[in-house]
Amino acid sequence: MKEKQFKAESKRLLDLMINSIYTNKEIFLRELISNASDALDKRYYNSMTQKKETVDKDKLNIKILVDKENKLLTIEDNGCGMNKEELENNLGTIAKSGSLAFKEAQDKQDDVEIIGQFGVGFYSCFMVSSDVTVISKSLDDEQAYKWHSKGVEGYTIEPTEKNEIGTKIILKIKDDTEDEKYSRYLEEFVIKNLVKKYSDYIRYPILMDVEHEKLKEGSKDEYEKVKETETLNSMVPLWKKKKSEIKQEEYDSFYTSKFSDFSKPQKVIHTQAEGTFSYNALLFIPSHLPYDFYTKEYEKGLQLYSNGVLIMEKCDELLPDYFGFVKGLVDSPDLSLNISREMLQHDRQLKTLAKNIEKKINAELTKMLNSDRDEYIRFFNNFGSQLKYGAYDNYGMDKDKLKDLLMFYSSTDKKLTTLKEYVSRMKEEQKDIYYACGETLDKIDMLPQVEKVKEKGYEILYLTENIDEFVVHSLMNYDEKKFTNICTNELDLDTEEEKEKLKKENEENKDMFDAMKEAIKDEVQLVRFTHRLKNHPVCLTSEGAISLEMEKVINAMPTDQNVKAQKVLEINEEHPIANKLKELYKEDKDKLKDYTKILYSQARLIEGMSVENPTEISNLICDIMAKQ
Ligand code: ADP
Repeated sequence: MKEKQFKAESKRLLDLMINSIYTNKEIFLRELISNASDALDKRYYNSMTQKKETVDKDKLNIKILVDKENKLLTIEDNGCGMNKEELENNLGTIAKSGSLAFKEAQDKQDDVEIIGQFGVGFYSCFMVSSDVTVISKSLDDEQAYKWHSKGVEGYTIEPTEKNEIGTKIILKIKDDTEDEKYSRYLEEFVIKNLVKKYSDYIRYPILMDVEHEKLKEGSKDEYEKVKETETLNSMVPLWKKKKSEIKQEEYDSFYTSKFSDFSKPQKVIHTQAEGTFSYNALLFIPSHLPYDFYTKEYEKGLQLYSNGVLIMEKCDELLPDYFGFVKGLVDSPDLSLNISREMLQHDRQLKTLAKNIEKKINAELTKMLNSDRDEYIRFFNNFGSQLKYGAYDNYGMDKDKLKDLLMFYSSTDKKLTTLKEYVSRMKEEQKDIYYACGETLDKIDMLPQVEKVKEKGYEILYLTENIDEFVVHSLMNYDEKKFTNICTNELDLDTEEEKEKLKKENEENKDMFDAMKEAIKDEVQLVRFTHRLKNHPVCLTSEGAISLEMEKVINAMPTDQNVKAQKVLEINEEHPIANKLKELYKEDKDKLKDYTKILYSQARLIEGMSVENPTEISNLICDIMAKQ
């Protein structure tokens, strides 16, 4: 029989597993049991909805069989099984992971991290076995199939005999080595402990024939060994256990096996609500960005259970987009088992449920922010952008719910701050919340406009993410204080007297400014003197709804949209260059033109924009240098 190769990336993953970079080998049992439980769920749910067969829930179970002599450990379920194609697709490649995503991750990260990001599930059995057989009979195929693999080389699939629907996974346990006693996985007490530790909540019985010493019948002191089938798990779903009785370890383990993540969750949120509509929600905030989070493959949603029976794998309606990173499940006895997706969309109970869940997540995040700032910043670095999109999306419909969870960098210590904190630090006479945009904190810090505002003792929010300025526009104000971009003409720091003086200066020099504007071919709407700069000679600002930063962001998007900010070239009225310009206007208008071109280019460069005629500008500067 021809052996098929594993797909290249699966092969690499297998290699990593077998060479056991991952030390926690024992989790293989948890992974196999969790797969079996999912298969049982599927079979039961199918029987309820599609009526192809009637399944007695009490007969669904998982069996563990030990054959010490031959070193075989078997995990058997009577779940939905797999047909030939499913065996091929599910076990011949990394399930669902998507080879492209895997390759991309591989380029960027080291091996341990890759494993951490992909739920390796089934593959973990190769950590303890070098010979794996899967015998499966699917619900919708008369023929059963046998999948067999000795690890890295590849696998075979052939027809086989099997009476019952379901899957049997037979592991030939590896020989003991100096470092690793693999044979322990054939010991009853070890298996019992592992099931208790990792799989206690599984809702189907996990059965094993356990040997007992029993008094011989009719005898008073003679014992004999008898085999009895024992249920190893308590079968209470984790989320239905009393919160006080659940260990953190149990939550973590439940999360990692259920949601295919090797890292523990950052936060567990468990609510048990009783009342007219009772429900149980077990939610997790991952401790890192899921590897496929920004791909089309990522589906948000929570698992939906009706009294312990899984009715939907990903119920999208239960989470707003901005909490799309949350994983978990909701179980309610008040939901109908036969509910369809269409019905769900109109279901009032579900809407209430979604609202409650959203409130709960929001409250927990607020609590984290107030009680453990470092923890919150860790969270925000992973998922803060989602909250920002949320505040901006749908015309800012949800902004009020999210505004206090947002953080931005600030000029004070270049650390993240909330808007509330910013406002609490505002000076008495400070009217607005100031912000400036740029690529990096350092670049913003060097903007000429920043200096003057800082000198007044005002704090500036440094917006470095593309979405930031859109968020600020969407919020419009916070605590009745308006957001002011210090790089627009909205900035107003002068006294009445200073304003009057500047106005006069600008009026008196209007003709000169017109000449300057013409020199740069109306690239700017206006040229004028300013007081917003302290030591710097020149800057570029904007008027109207589109700021310079937005012009950059929008034009960088892959759409046809092309926008232009209305630019204003501002010259520091207190800088010697101001007088020089006035002098040139009187004596040498050609030179004024050249100076204007250079000043405009400087202003663009400072703003992080490109110069359209670099050769001309370079020549002009050299001419001036040569004449000195
Ligand atoms: P995951 O469970 O994260 O999807 P696995 O590698 O553990 O990844 O399993 C791959 C797929 O193989 C599963 O999604 C499921 O479709 C199928 N599978 C695994 N074990 C079983 C089983 N015991 N019965 C039916 N299908 C199974």
